[in-house]
Amino acid sequence: MFIRAVAALVLVVSPAVAASYRSAEVWDGDKVQKNVCVNIQGDKIQSVGACPPGAIDMSRYTAIPGMIDVHTHMTYVYENPVSQAGRGAAVVYLAASNAKKTLETGVTTVRDLGSQNYSDIAMRDLINKKLMTGPRMFVAGYGLQIQRGANVTPNTATGSAEVMRVVRLQVFAGADYIKMYGSTGSGQDVTQLETFTYEEMKAAVDAAHAPGKRIAIHSYGPDDATITEMARRKTWYVPAIDHNRYYADNYKLLGYPAKAVDGLNDYIARNLVTAKKAWKGGVRFAMGSDAVSTMFGENTREPGWFVKAGMTPEQALRTATVNGAELLGQEKSLGALRPDYFADVVAVEGDPLADIQVAIDKVRWVMKGGEVVVDKTK
Ligand SMILES: [Zn+2]
Repeated sequence: MFIRAVAALVLVVSPAVAASYRSAEVWDGDKVQKNVCVNIQGDKIQSVGACPPGAIDMSRYTAIPGMIDVHTHMTYVYENPVSQAGRGAAVVYLAASNAKKTLETGVTTVRDLGSQNYSDIAMRDLINKKLMTGPRMFVAGYGLQIQRGANVTPNTATGSAEVMRVVRLQVFAGADYIKMYGSTGSGQDVTQLETFTYEEMKAAVDAAHAPGKRIAIHSYGPDDATITEMARRKTWYVPAIDHNRYYADNYKLLGYPAKAVDGLNDYIARNLVTAKKAWKGGVRFAMGSDAVSTMFGENTREPGWFVKAGMTPEQALRTATVNGAELLGQEKSLGALRPDYFADVVAVEGDPLADIQVAIDKVRWVMKGGEVVVDKTK
């Protein structure tokens, strides 16, 4: 009886499914290999190399690692017609389409930087348990903001002690990362005034680092001294140039006045100048779209701006893969096609190292953790 029970159990945990995909070219995050297979075992990559018999032919495509968007707001849904009491639950339901659209761009991992009611944490967990389809999410819970009106909300903090308390609340709620809004500037507002004081920001950094979390600071308008300091400290820079392009393109939909477009375009130009200086100055970049509302599906346009800022297509592609993984502290499992890494693979039509637009516009097939989640090859 006992032995039979064990045998039944073994059947349930049957060996992970293996599959091999033949590519004409594989860019593994570091170099190109020609006429090889990406061999998958379960949710991991077993090897990139010789093809076994029966490999699936994907030789029309170039394989690249699943991309990483390190700045999203997956739960900022465009429309939420539900009354106040049910809004949190409705947000998770409505944000499912943002998650799907993100996968279609070849993004298999996101860092989501700010949400309400911990709906980001709910999404992350639903996706991890395969109850929702979406990219794996590293989430921040509430982003810290200064108090502006009379209302104290769960994310507002004044003074170092309160800042530390709110940071710890996010950590205990299950946040992977801490987010702080260190300056004004968002939507049609392109002002760049510091909000939290140096002491408050330091308190947030210390409170995040104590339990081993990293912190992202929203900041409009760094100067040359900031760039030098970022290069020296190896601080990641996520310019999100393209999110103001999205706001400018969609000003009517978003209800901005026409004159806001001039301010946004002016800011885009200045943001690009800063990115050029930072790239020349040796600052490390990662790709972040700052996608909100209807921007999902346009998550990967940012590397196009990075090429304009002076990167080669390959360097721009690194910002969306290996660099994103390192920013998240996941450089040993994400962002590259190597043995024992998660089987996050994107098939693009063309050579993204010759033209970055291939990675942006020509995504045909996406695998996340060994499962095909997008297939436009037929
Ligand atoms: Zn943001």
